[in-house]
Parts: sequence; C-alpha cells; structure tokens
Amino acid sequence: MDLLSVDRELTRNSYYAATAPRQQAFPALQGGADCDVAVVGGGLAGLSAALDLAERGLSVVLLEAREIGWGASGRNGGQAIHGLACDQSTIEAQLGLDEARRVWNMSIEALDLLRQRIARHAIDCDWRDGYLGLATNARKGRELQDWAERMATVYGYAMQHIPPAEMGRWIASERFHSGIHDPRSGHLHPLKFTQGLARAAAAAGVRLHEQSPVLALQQGNPAVLRTAQGELRASHVLLAGNVYLKGLAPQLEPRIMPVGTYIACTERLDDALADSLIPSRSAVCDTNFVLDYFRTTNDQRMLYGGRVSYSTVTPMNLAESIRQRMVLSFPQLSGAKVEYAWGGFVDISMNRAPDFGRLPTPPGHTPNVYYLQGFSGHGLALTGLAGRLVAEAICGDAGRFDTFARLKHRPFPGGRLLRTPALVLGMAWYRMRDLVA
Ligand SMILES: Cc1cc2nc3c(=O)[nH]c(=O)nc-3n(C[C@H](O)[C@H](O)[C@H](O)COP(=O)(O)OP(=O)(O)OC[C@H]3O[C@@H](n4cnc5c(N)ncnc54)[C@H](O)[C@@H]3O)c2cc1C
Repeated sequence: MDLLSVDRELTRNSYYAATAPRQQAFPALQGGADCDVAVVGGGLAGLSAALDLAERGLSVVLLEAREIGWGASGRNGGQAIHGLACDQSTIEAQLGLDEARRVWNMSIEALDLLRQRIARHAIDCDWRDGYLGLATNARKGRELQDWAERMATVYGYAMQHIPPAEMGRWIASERFHSGIHDPRSGHLHPLKFTQGLARAAAAAGVRLHEQSPVLALQQGNPAVLRTAQGELRASHVLLAGNVYLKGLAPQLEPRIMPVGTYIACTERLDDALADSLIPSRSAVCDTNFVLDYFRTTNDQRMLYGGRVSYSTVTPMNLAESIRQRMVLSFPQLSGAKVEYAWGGFVDISMNRAPDFGRLPTPPGHTPNVYYLQGFSGHGLALTGLAGRLVAEAICGDAGRFDTFARLKHRPFPGGRLLRTPALVLGMAWYRMRDLVA
C-alpha cells in the first residue's frame, strides 16, 4: 500500500473529525487564474502564510489536494509546546548561541501568535494553558532538570521544576519520576483550530480551493501550477505540503522521512476520574526519544499518543496497542473503552530541525518558490510562525526566515528505496535505549 492509501485508513476513526464537522467547503480550482502568491497545502503552515499575506494586501490562492486540515494539522496531539523538535544544541552547533537564542525566542513568539489568532479570529478550539514534561526515571529526571536550568540561565526561559515528592499534585500516575511545568505552552483541538484559521483566511480575501491537488509546478516568473482542471500563475509560491508533495519538488523529498504516529481517545470518563488524572489539565509528554504524549479533553476523555512506525506500516490492532500503553501510565483507566484511534505522518528531518528555504533557480532568476517542511512532529505552534516568516520574506524582510534557512540539512542515507529500512533499524536502537536507560 502506498503512503496515501495507508493515510486514508488512518483518518477514518478520528476523534477530531467526529467532533468538528465541516462547516465550510471550498470549490476546486477550475480554469486559469493569476495571483501574487500561490500556496500549496491547506494545513497550518499554508493557512498561516496565506492569512498573513492577505492581511498585507497581496492576492493569495491556496490549493489543497483534499480537505482543509486533512493532513497532520487536523489530526495531531494538539500540544503546542515551546522550542523545536530538536534540542537547542543542534541549532547552537550550526548557527551559534546568539542565533540559537533568536530561534528559541521565535518558538515562544509562535505560542503567543497562536493565542492571538484564537482571540482575534474568535476560534472556538478548546484552548488550555500548560505543559508538563515528565521524566520516567531518576537519570532522565536529572537530565530534564539540568536542561531546564540551562534554559533559564542561557535562554532566560524559566520553567517550574517538579521534584519527585510533588509529582502526586500534578499527575495521578506512578510511572513518572519528576518533571517541569511550562504555563506558556498548552493544548487545543487542532482540527477546530485549522478550520478556524481557514475561515479567517477566507475572510481576509484568500481564495481557497479544496480537492485541487497540484500535479505540476513549472518554475519561472510567473511560476505555473497545474491541477486537473486549472492553471494558476503566481509571482511567488509556497510549498507547504508536508510529506505529501509527491514529486512536485523532488529535491526536497530525500531530506524528510514520513514517520507514522498514532493516537487513541477514550470514551467520556466519569468527571471525578477525568479531573484527577492531570489536575492542572496541562498537555503532557514524557522525555523518551519515542515518546508518549497525552492530555484530557474538554469533554472529559483521555487522548493518548504513544506509538510510532518508522516503516509507514500501521501497527497491528492500533487501538488496543495504544490502550495498553495508556494503562501502563494510568492503570485506573483499564476499564475505559477506547472510542477512537487514528494516526498520521510527521515529516522528520535527519537532525529534527525545521527545513525552510527557497528552491534554487537558474542563474539570473530570483528564487520565488519557498518551502516549509521538517517540523518533525513539533509543528502545531511553529507552523503558525513559519507562515508569518514566509509572508515577511515575500514582502521584503527575509531576515527571520533566513535565520532558519541557514540551517543545513542532509538527505537520509540510502536514497529513496533504502532510507525507510535504515531508519527502522536506527529507531529500534533508540527505542531500546528508552527501555533500558
Ligand atoms: C498523529 C500526529 C500527532 C502530532 N502531534 C503533535 C503535537 O501534539 N504537537 C505538535 O507540535 N505537533 C504535532 N504533530 C505535528 C504537526 O501536526 C505538524 O508539524 C503540522 O501540523 C504540519 O503542518 P503542515 O501545514 O506543514 O502539514 P499538513 O497539516 O500535513 O498539511 C499539508 C497539506 O498539504 C496538502 N498537499 C500536499 N501536497 C499537495 C499538492 N501537491 N497539492 C495540493 N495540496 C497538497 C495535503 O493534502 C495536506 O492537507 C503531530 C502530527 C501527527 C501526524
């Protein structure tokens, strides 16, 4: 089965789709059209750029192959967390400490931007403040505390340390040793948010088209994008297609790998039980390389993410295998029925740093095709800021975009055919390290 067929299966039983019915559909692109900026991809990265560009007065057309929010943006864990998927040391090694601080501060700005957009566009998406990062043993607890102390002293970002003796106030689980709490991070219903952002973009003048896969991109000025029934000419293009671009920009594909990640959601729990699990109602992640991430929803369910597949093959009996992980953390949920289980693909880069840039052009031409990829499973907030950085760059201020674009990315070893098996082996090693360390 190819990636898209697997993915179609994975979307069938999503809690988000069941609780955020589509309120607005957008017509497919028909015939010819011209615009300042063409955006490929109706996820959070594409929508964010489109909204900002339209607010700056540019004419913007967004083409989505399926439905708005169909990709990772409408299916994720809903956790909006400080920082990037990689550690700051990766950024420091490439750009130096001053630029790494700039990148970190932009990740915090991304959280503020998320809150501002929810408020400004009145997006009803179940936002809640707070994030808990939890260590599963004493050694990982010390590492987490050391990291938090460095973030406070070197980056000026303070988080609350939670020692073992205080853990009972934060989580009703024996599985975790200690942790940190960050009130600026938080969580939301990602499909409601993505749909809300699309409504805001449409209200700002963006022309949105669904069921409009871009089949070919011809670079030039204007660049030309072709769909089955339409042709769009644009002065600038943004590719924000995550792992689904499928040959549209072949030079980008080897730098990201689709990794499957999966979530289950229980039935509604008894109020007292639901309220007791994570009393602060924060989003929670453990610090393992292959991590568990979970939160309680506004309607009193446990939403638990905890499996990955580096081979793009969906784990057998998905709902049951995640339920077993959930019960390891919360034995008190052993009787809770899992009502939904779904998954999606994240676009991981080799070093887990985001991969932003422009496609090369022949000499004498100004690069006008931008891309955003490599969020590596940590894109809920950062996609919003990334879209804004593209808008800034297109409008003449590329400084912040170029900070990210200077990050170097290597292709996955083994080329198109071998990179998946090589990654499976590599990740098996990390998984073993999580278990024994
Ligand atoms: C199960 C899961 C859990 C996650 N949990 C979290 C989390 O808790 N916190 C966090 O920060 N991040 C999380 N992530 C990652 C986060 O969801 C992503 O980083 C983010 O949503 C990426 O947004 P995007 O706009 O780049 O891509 P997407 O949302 O995938 O959007 C890309 C869109 O482009 C469209 N497209 C692609 N090619 C074409 C084409 N040729 N023509 C037209 N349209 C095209 C696709 O149909 C798709 O809708 C998770 C991801 C998954 C899958």
